[in-house]
Amino acid sequence: MEDVREVLARHGFYFKKKFGQNFLSDANLLSAVVRDAGVGAETVVLEVGAGAGALTRALSQAAQRVLAYEIDASLRPVLAETLAGCENVEVVFGDFLRADLPALERELGRYRVVANLPYYVTTPVMMRFLEEARACDGLSVMVQEEVAERFTAAAGTPQYGAVTAAIALKGEARIVRRVPRTMFTPRPNVDSAIVRIDFEEGRIPVQSPSAYRAAVRCAFSGRRKTLENNLMNAFSLSREQAKSVLREAGFADMVRGETLAPEEFARLADVLSARGIAE
Ligand code: SAM
Repeated sequence: MEDVREVLARHGFYFKKKFGQNFLSDANLLSAVVRDAGVGAETVVLEVGAGAGALTRALSQAAQRVLAYEIDASLRPVLAETLAGCENVEVVFGDFLRADLPALERELGRYRVVANLPYYVTTPVMMRFLEEARACDGLSVMVQEEVAERFTAAAGTPQYGAVTAAIALKGEARIVRRVPRTMFTPRPNVDSAIVRIDFEEGRIPVQSPSAYRAAVRCAFSGRRKTLENNLMNAFSLSREQAKSVLREAGFADMVRGETLAPEEFARLADVLSARGIAE
């Protein structure tokens, strides 16, 4: 099989920074990525950003089916070549962020996401799967190393944030592989890592996932402010009401939102939804 870089050169392709195009080509790394993701003959895979198709091809050899999104239509002739003979692959040319996810899920059934994510949309892509997806069994995503540290951060550390807490509701995030910048074409300025998250239904029991999200948003809306102040601002509560919510959820008045562990966000969310403050 010709190296994807040669195929790209033959087609006069030029890399577009605005789409976060940093492609993989190393065969050993690609098989390791597929293995790390736990893809097997029964797995349906959704890939975001097919690029030149190197990962798509490796996935197609292990999976039952692969559906890949790619925003850059100029990759069409490249992918026609690199994915020739991959009967179980379909590429949709379009912006994944505008995809009709419920319709896609009806078509796919249960699936896993495997992707070398474009860095400029890492968070919105992740949030779609964390908040909107109903048939997703998990994610295995290659992201900038610093972002991977954020995804897997412990509560109270500087890296811990709203995305970390959103992930924790769905599953445990683990860094399964570090990928040096030298593995990409063109070479980015930072190293990457693969984060795997296996979704577990009801991992952190909470009455309402949307109240959990509202609690998390509120807690991180003003870092270094007390949760009491953030509650007052986010939900238009009086100081007394905010204190009473905190008391019922078992927190001290001066607690800061960014120190709360995911289970504590769930406790706060349950009080907010029981009082009709958040749905
Ligand atoms: N999977 C390939 C690989 O590993 O070599 C390419 C990975 S590259 C980091 C990300 C790819 O996502 C690029 O091909 C880029 O054009 C595509 N992309 C960027 N934004 C996108 C979006 N919103 N929807 C779908 N694809 C997107």
